[in-house]
Amino acid sequence: MSDGPHLVVAGSYGWSTRYVLAAAPGPGETLLADEVQFEHGGKGSNQAVAAARLGASVDFVTAVGHDHPGEAAIALWQGEGVRADPVRPAGLPTMTGTILVERDGENRIVVALGAMLALGATDAHLVGRLVTADSTVVVQNEAPYAFTRAVLERAAAAGARTVYNPAPVSAALDHRDPVWQAVDVLVPNQHEARSLLGDSDLAPDASAEELARELAERTGCRVVLTLGAEGAVFVAGGAVERVPAVPATAVDTTGAGDCFTAALSVALAEGAVMRDAVRFACLAASRAVQQPGVIDGLPRRAELAEEVV
Ligand code: ATP
Repeated sequence: MSDGPHLVVAGSYGWSTRYVLAAAPGPGETLLADEVQFEHGGKGSNQAVAAARLGASVDFVTAVGHDHPGEAAIALWQGEGVRADPVRPAGLPTMTGTILVERDGENRIVVALGAMLALGATDAHLVGRLVTADSTVVVQNEAPYAFTRAVLERAAAAGARTVYNPAPVSAALDHRDPVWQAVDVLVPNQHEARSLLGDSDLAPDASAEELARELAERTGCRVVLTLGAEGAVFVAGGAVERVPAVPATAVDTTGAGDCFTAALSVALAEGAVMRDAVRFACLAASRAVQQPGVIDGLPRRAELAEEVV
């Protein structure tokens, strides 16, 4: 196991099946796909594996079913050095995602949360018993919100650093939610940031800097706003700063946000100042977009070593 900084990631694991086909079937129609790919997914698991590859000592709290995807997930975490003792509710399958990719690139996605639905506020104790004041706790939005919120509150009460990647976007969550008091670092993309601001009077053509500053002011969090190929903007200590992306030939940007959040969390846990942590996250995420698939693209620390900021 790594002797790097301690991260506790709490969130989803999902098994995804991706079909590439000419066009999605219509009602009553059966079509043959051109190809099919199976892949580990789930934002929590992606972030846990990414953090372990970047040198953190990682505990992962999640739920999977008593089924083949659940066993495959456990084998993945063991192989990556991620400690996980998942909740395994009877009668609920592992979360799955089915992605239909049409030849023109259009996606249709169906997700069944399955075992993730078993996680509730009372399961936050699973995180509570792992966390100390030296830990960094990382959450996303693919678990039931009662669980995510209780995890953040427990972590904050223990004095841990908390990082919240509010993806996928949830219409039920906005800048008025009391949860922000338990969040140190908020890491949305632009779509998520706008959704969190909801009915605020921010202009539709506001810059990324204005968007990040407004969200920081409303939530009281340090905000790191990701901008895809444009890099990221962060707000810390009242200052707003842009960090450009590390140039890359992107072949698959799926999971770039997960890699970014994990790398940012690892760097902050190692004591980096925000600017350096964001630069490290941009570097790691630029590697992730250069490979097809999510897990295969997550870089290892040694690959970044010569470029560490
Ligand atoms: P996803 O949902 O696909 O995981 P996201 O919307 O959460 O992504 P993005 O803002 O698209 O997150 O990307 C996260 C980070 O990845 C960016 O801040 C940037 O550092 C890096 N990145 C994304 N796309 C590129 C690219 N084309 N070239 C270089 N870096 C990139």
